[in-house]
Amino acid sequence: MKQQIEKVLGIPIAVVLRATPWIWELKSDKDKIRTTVEPIPLPQRFIARPAPVPMVKWKGIELPGPPPIPKDFDGRAIRDRFMELKTDEDHLAFLNQYGKFSLLGEFEKSRGWRRVDFEGWQTVFAELAKRAPETWSDYVDSLLPLRPGFDILGVRSALFFGSRHEVEFHWHGLPQIGWRGAKHLALLQASDVVSAIFATIEIDHLRGAKFGVCARTDCPKFFEITSRHSRKYCSQYCAHLESVRRTRGRQRKKRAKSRKRSRARLGRS
Ligand SMILES: [Zn+2]
Repeated sequence: MKQQIEKVLGIPIAVVLRATPWIWELKSDKDKIRTTVEPIPLPQRFIARPAPVPMVKWKGIELPGPPPIPKDFDGRAIRDRFMELKTDEDHLAFLNQYGKFSLLGEFEKSRGWRRVDFEGWQTVFAELAKRAPETWSDYVDSLLPLRPGFDILGVRSALFFGSRHEVEFHWHGLPQIGWRGAKHLALLQASDVVSAIFATIEIDHLRGAKFGVCARTDCPKFFEITSRHSRKYCSQYCAHLESVRRTRGRQRKKRAKSRKRSRARLGRS
């Protein structure tokens, strides 16, 4: 089929994560993961389980109630928050708020992700924002033989599953049968964090946005390039921190040099 592509500017579109509550825990070596053979010791992993279904009383009998209603969260806000995560506590709070991280449900319940995997995700999201979509597959495939230290196979499968979305058209703030009104919106829905963040990046590419990745080595964030003025850092904070580091580095070198010189002088005397 040949698609007729309409280039319509200014389509109001939003990404929403319809989050089902999951309970995430950080499990250490002590809580070995049992396989059919024997427990394997693993580094600390974030492992999920679905939130228990609340019980309701009906005529004196306890019965499982209706499943919890999913909560809606804004995709872009999730992306910004995810790129800021640093500590285990940050990650736990984030995961417990948004539920499923990817569509690899069984993987998240049994094996789970390590913190290095989430750091890997930050790097991959930044690269996907920076690179043209036609180079994404090559980029992800190029990581495989490098053994980057994070679960690249998990990342690749989650991205593969995370690129299909449901779209709901909203008129007057709600999906309606009568299409009257001016407040219209195409609402792209995701049920997991990866799909939600991925969708925001894909929309950015559709609207032709260009991104750069922060030059501070320990900052994974990416930022939109909106002017011709070249920009290296995601924020004033990162730019400042790097300049402080450079100054300190120079001072350290200077001190080391003068120490060497004075030692040489002592040696001569
Ligand atoms: Zn930065």
